[in-house]
Amino acid sequence: MSTVTKVHARYVYDSRGNPTVEVDLTTAKGVFRAIVPSGASTGVHEALELRDGDKSKWLGKGVLKAVSNVNNIIAPAVVKAKIPVTEQAKFDEFLNSLDGTPNKGKLGANAILGVSLAVAKAAAALKGVPLYAYFSDLIGSKKPYVLPVPFMNVLNGGTHAGGSLAFQEFMIAPVGAKSFHEAMEIGAEVYQHLKKLAKKEYGQSAANVGDEGGVAPDIQTPEEALDLIVEAIKAAGHWGKVGIAMDSASSEFFKNGKYDLDFKNPKSAGSRALTGAQLGDLYAKLMAKYPLVSLEDPYAEDDWETWTTNFPKTKIQIVGDDLTVTNPKRIAIAIEKKACDALLLKVNQIGSLTESIQAAKDAYAAGWGVMVSHRSGETEDTTIADLTVGLRTGQLKCGAPARSERLAKYNQLMRIEEELGDKAVFAGRDFHIGNKL
Ligand code: PGA
Ligand code: ZN
Repeated sequence: MSTVTKVHARYVYDSRGNPTVEVDLTTAKGVFRAIVPSGASTGVHEALELRDGDKSKWLGKGVLKAVSNVNNIIAPAVVKAKIPVTEQAKFDEFLNSLDGTPNKGKLGANAILGVSLAVAKAAAALKGVPLYAYFSDLIGSKKPYVLPVPFMNVLNGGTHAGGSLAFQEFMIAPVGAKSFHEAMEIGAEVYQHLKKLAKKEYGQSAANVGDEGGVAPDIQTPEEALDLIVEAIKAAGHWGKVGIAMDSASSEFFKNGKYDLDFKNPKSAGSRALTGAQLGDLYAKLMAKYPLVSLEDPYAEDDWETWTTNFPKTKIQIVGDDLTVTNPKRIAIAIEKKACDALLLKVNQIGSLTESIQAAKDAYAAGWGVMVSHRSGETEDTTIADLTVGLRTGQLKCGAPARSERLAKYNQLMRIEEELGDKAVFAGRDFHIGNKL
């Protein structure tokens, strides 16, 4: 009853129109499905996302090998092993042993993660509890549940958009809201004003959106982006209730030891290239002028020196993404070096649920915050909405309040908040310490 009778994978398409892995896992309770997301500004230390590389199909981005690895290697082994679906850690260990490499390089993190997440859904159904409650059991967290502050990426740059802006994400975080519902309302209103203002100030095409649903005006500097967002928050009447966060995704523009803010210009001669110290000064200026509450990947994934020099000087949350890649080993180094104080948690960076939960536990043990995150290539799968509530992270980012692969997660959180009523609290200004609420 609690074991797997069938596993079937297929490919479907993600929000960028690239193939991705979908897994259907069958137990006596039914069929449980998970779909795997995919990044664009991927960290070099992430677990391996297995792509076919056959340029004649999908420009090399096919996942036929990963699908075949699920159907021909994982499926028969899992059915034979008869591990109960309620033994998530054992299950994930088994999947890792089938792969046998440190980065899931043989079967692919995309193959393994699809199965790992589907197992959790099967276990929750077997126990007759919502998925967020099952995740809460897995991490052993105490109640009340915590609804996260949504960090909505309303202005897209970097590799997620056309235009020349180097910095990848500008997010609004309605920390002054009283509930998740109110936070979404504030976010949706600011977003609509931002679209109007972007069109007015930068022309009709500025309202085109990037991969995560944010507007993508052709601007050059972070100040222009932040000024526009401030204007939108004020126009919506929510000034004082909304913090702003940035994800620089700076590994993308770290070239020859410098940060080239003109990296999207193929003719860049490096005239806008900054040293780590100069980039740190730029952030300090932005922090003094704007209501910034969180800064992600301010420096490149292996530029430890700049991370550790500048972190002690900052007063806002500093988040590791490409730096830490949801990998307990990288997280341990970042803790030891005092490089940052929050973990961006992306399940496909490490490729299994158990290791993702371990990453959150390690971050909490060091007094860090944890922000659950989508990928720029997303799907209708809403697992991360339940994950952020179950792990009590207090913060999640999954794009603008636009495009259904983003809203699917926010809408799931609306349902969870409605269902939990006063059994849940909203993290608000305490988003950094969600697990302590
Ligand atoms: P990615 O972007 O999914 O393209 O990696 C998200 C992020 O950098 O946080
Ligand atoms: Zn990032």
